[in-house]
Amino acid sequence: LDRLRGRLSRSQNSVGQGLLGLLGAGDLDEDAWEEIEDTLIMADLGAAMTQRVVDTLREEIATRQVRTEAEVRDLLRQTLIDNLHPEYDRSLKALPNDGTPAVLLVVGVNGTGKTTTTGKLARVLVADGRAILLGAADTFRAAAADQLQTWAERVGAEVVRGKEGADPASVAFDAVARGVETGVDAVLVDTAGRLHTKTGLMDELGKVKRVVEKKTEVDEVLLVIDATTGQNGLMQARVFKDVVDITGVVLTKLDGTAKGGIVFQVQHELGVPVKLVGLGEGADDLAPFTPEAFVNALLG
Ligand code: GDP
Repeated sequence: LDRLRGRLSRSQNSVGQGLLGLLGAGDLDEDAWEEIEDTLIMADLGAAMTQRVVDTLREEIATRQVRTEAEVRDLLRQTLIDNLHPEYDRSLKALPNDGTPAVLLVVGVNGTGKTTTTGKLARVLVADGRAILLGAADTFRAAAADQLQTWAERVGAEVVRGKEGADPASVAFDAVARGVETGVDAVLVDTAGRLHTKTGLMDELGKVKRVVEKKTEVDEVLLVIDATTGQNGLMQARVFKDVVDITGVVLTKLDGTAKGGIVFQVQHELGVPVKLVGLGEGADDLAPFTPEAFVNALLG
């Protein structure tokens, strides 16, 4: 978590410092509140969430005697944490030990970091002593299967891949079938995220899920969102939500943005937790998401 704090703070300190500076400035006039709103909007909290946060702050400051810098800081921290659903269970569905592999589908628009996240997740699980199989069901992007294979070799996982242009669902099925046969603990399926049309995506991803379910239950559907794409990430979340039941979100590239505020909106919109964050391109750059650490990093 210290690592998360260090990485985030480099890019996000300015947001937090800006807010604390404004809030700590004594009696707040309308201009000051407007600036506070602007700061939250810039951090990608979106209009509705910004309004909620500002309303809470205004009310609390008016009705409670929040005066000192430390009190303001605590109020801001707590208000932000409260809007991140601290009650959510963010653990990945427990890996079964009855011999049937857990199945995780990794979904999202191309370029968001699906393949990288799948590799990093495999690394975490292998390091935890689990036997992992990777399914390269992103058969549309030529390099995706190679990339996943490289990850598999690097972390010590098996990989099942199809021919380029093969039906993603058949590759996913083969991967899960192989995982059941060899008795791995989990099969992580990297899917194609072609957002050509919503019905196209629905057909493709829906089929992947249906086909896998012929073999065994799907335990997690993790939606990967690139934090640097701001409001686009929210739009993607809406589309994927309509197509498949998302069980958790992975917010990637948080190391390169001050726009991590999208996390507030994505969780609110989907009603599911952000479970993991990507903090870089390396194998160890995947961390659990916790509202407290995130907000602490945001506020510097
Ligand atoms: P996919 O098309 O969704 O499978 O995306 P990739 O996994 O190929 O990732 C796209 C690019 O983003 C690659 O260059 C990755 O190294 C990079 N990437 C993925 N996750 C992160 C992250 O958390 N931080 C940073 N800085 N780069 C990332």
